[in-house]
Amino acid sequence: MQKLRQVILKKHHHTSVKDTMRLTNKKISEVVGYFLGETASNVALYLKGREHTSEFKVAEEMGMDIHTARTLLYNLFDHNVVRFDRKKDRKKGWYVTYWDMMEDNIKNLYNKMQKEKMDKLKGRLEKEEGNQFYMCANACTRMDFDKAMEFNFKCPECGELMNHMDNSRTIQFIHEKIEDLQQEMAKS
Ligand SMILES: [Zn+2]
Repeated sequence: MQKLRQVILKKHHHTSVKDTMRLTNKKISEVVGYFLGETASNVALYLKGREHTSEFKVAEEMGMDIHTARTLLYNLFDHNVVRFDRKKDRKKGWYVTYWDMMEDNIKNLYNKMQKEKMDKLKGRLEKEEGNQFYMCANACTRMDFDKAMEFNFKCPECGELMNHMDNSRTIQFIHEKIEDLQQEMAKS
């Protein structure tokens, strides 16, 4: 009976710890790739599920020279995606670093990415909503109201009249993107 209770407690503890966003490889690749590029995200995925992988092994398995591998690994480290131990190689007498991925930290990076995307969308929305845009009838130029007024609403390229552009569809599109992102953020 005592033993069974321990098992149940353990199990409960296990689920509460794991009660976070499920991280698929696709999601990890999206998040790490967003900040550090595709090659770095491939390195992160390579380290996932392995333990204490040496920098030389990473370089060899990823088909890159040791300097490139180190640069990518320390970039990942700067973003809290990986950690490392440094150990002295007894035979060669030099130090080698051994790397592990910190999967739990991807969640923070994911939130940071979503926040950045949101800020960008809101910036674009502000710009679209706060400006009137004008475009030459021959489509050579597009500019905001102030600039168009400077040119008396005549195209500086061809002299044709510049027309007011309806950007309500663009605004609608950005609103939809913001809503989608808000829903995604609420889920995680
Ligand atoms: Zn023109």
